[in-house]
This record gives sequence, C-alpha cells and structure tokens, in this order.
Amino acid sequence: MPLPAVTTNVVDMTTSASLPAETTPQASSGGSVTDRLVAANREYAAEFTDPGMDARPVLHVAVVACMDARLDLHKALGLELGDCHTIRNAGGVVTDDTIRSLTISQRALGTRTVILIHHTGCGLESLTEDFRHELEDEVGQRPAWAVEAFRDVDQDVRQSMQRVRTNPFLPHRDDVRGFVFDVHTGLLREIDPAS
Ligand SMILES: [Zn+2]
Repeated sequence: MPLPAVTTNVVDMTTSASLPAETTPQASSGGSVTDRLVAANREYAAEFTDPGMDARPVLHVAVVACMDARLDLHKALGLELGDCHTIRNAGGVVTDDTIRSLTISQRALGTRTVILIHHTGCGLESLTEDFRHELEDEVGQRPAWAVEAFRDVDQDVRQSMQRVRTNPFLPHRDDVRGFVFDVHTGLLREIDPAS
C-alpha cells in the first residue's frame, strides 16, 4: 500500500520522476528517491524482529567488494543477516580506509577470512589517473586520494590480495582469496594470486 507522502525540505531533484512508474510501486507520488527508500524502511521495520545478534559476524568473514549496483553480495554469496562484514568502495580497492575497516573487523570483531570481489565491466577500467588532474583543473585542488583505476581486473585483484597479505596491522592474512564477479552470468571466477 502507498504510504502517506513524507514532508521534506529536500529540493526536489526529480530523480524519482525519471524512474518508470510500473517498476516503482512503492514510490509516493512526487517524492524523491530518498523518500521512497525511507517509506520502504517503514515497511521493513514493521516486519522486523530483533534477531538478538551481537556485532561479531557469524562466519568470521569480511568481504571487500566494488560498490557496483549490479552486485548483490548477500544473494550472490548466499549470505544471511549477521554473517559478514561488507566493505565496499569504487572498484573494491584495498585503500588505507579499507585497511582501517579490516583492522577493526579482525582485531575488534573477530573476523579471520578476507574475500575480495572485483567484477566485469567495472567503471574504473574506463578511468585513468588523469581523472585527478582533470579535477584539479576544474576545482583548483588535487585530491589526496588515488583514483586506483586499472586496465586488467585480474591483476588488480592480485594487487588487492597482496595489499591485504602484506599489511602489518592485520593479524589474519593467510585466508585471503580474490574473485571476479561476472555481471552477466552471476558467477565468481577465482584469481590465482601467483599467476
Ligand atoms: Zn566496479
């Protein structure tokens, strides 16, 4: 059932107006996409029962993956609520901030396994480090972060595995495996770290 429209101060960017109405049955007329998600949350919460879990992932695993919208990690890996930590960013890159999360995941919350997932058709394959220079030209300030663009997804998975395996902050560096998710078939392909 449609929920009452939410009063909001957010400027209407007409984002939800561009979505096909037949595929957005929960959309409240005229609401932003965020309004729609908040409405969906009310329905979720109405059915929600507290599972009584603590914060430690049941499977003691942390998954580092690209933020790509076509990758549904829980469905693709058969994961249930509470099973794992998911750490996502553009590319599924092992950045300093990824290491920050993994360090907390392992040292404070008991994970011991790391799974790295890149995917076919990643947006980072079409970027280069020139992106940073273009940003600098446009805004007058060069970002401190690297774009972490790549040409060879297999090699980038290997580099990510290597970054985890050599990081001194992580106490558990033996059980690290890397994969490429095929967005067309839904299958994972494992990457041999030694190739
Ligand atoms: Zn990606």
